[in-house]
Amino acid sequence: MNKTIYCIGRNYVKHIQELSNEVPTSPLVFLKAPASLRGLKGGPLAYPQETFHHEIELVLQIGRDFKLGENCGHDDISAIGLGIDLTRREIQTELKKQGLPWTTAKSFAGSALLGSLRPYEETQNITFDLFVNGQLKQHGESQNMIYPFLDICNYLNSFSPLQKGDLIFTGTPEGVGEIKKNDVFEFVLNGLIREQGVL
Ligand code: ZN
Repeated sequence: MNKTIYCIGRNYVKHIQELSNEVPTSPLVFLKAPASLRGLKGGPLAYPQETFHHEIELVLQIGRDFKLGENCGHDDISAIGLGIDLTRREIQTELKKQGLPWTTAKSFAGSALLGSLRPYEETQNITFDLFVNGQLKQHGESQNMIYPFLDICNYLNSFSPLQKGDLIFTGTPEGVGEIKKNDVFEFVLNGLIREQGVL
């Protein structure tokens, strides 16, 4: 069952500023191939000789099939978790300069690192943190998203209807930086739920 992995770029103002990008006027969407998915316990990672950039993100799983143009409600999000949108930043920067697609910088074996998914409930704010080798690197709050969950789902449905099981990486807050093979990282959801992985 190979589901689509959607990713949203530039969804937090402070992250847009740290990479000197422009604030988008509609959600910026890109894809990762299903072969990008990787759990926290490790597995095949393309380009093991390189360092990468970490982007911690809230990840949604969609609970039903949609029709083109249909609206999405909170009940249609079945699960939520944390993931890293692993990025080859130098390659992405070069591709951006040339006005070319980012695919090779964003979609490769192991580039969609996904923690455990848990049932989704609508809440005012969700906080999340990424530690790398014991150091806090990123802290995010869903209330700071430019495009909140339902706006993202509705936007995707307007041109590419979501299907049950699809994943959406909803964008990263500020603090992106280097992560290397064998680094130990920890996800913290709402200050309570912790899980560790190794790159
Ligand atoms: Zn990202």
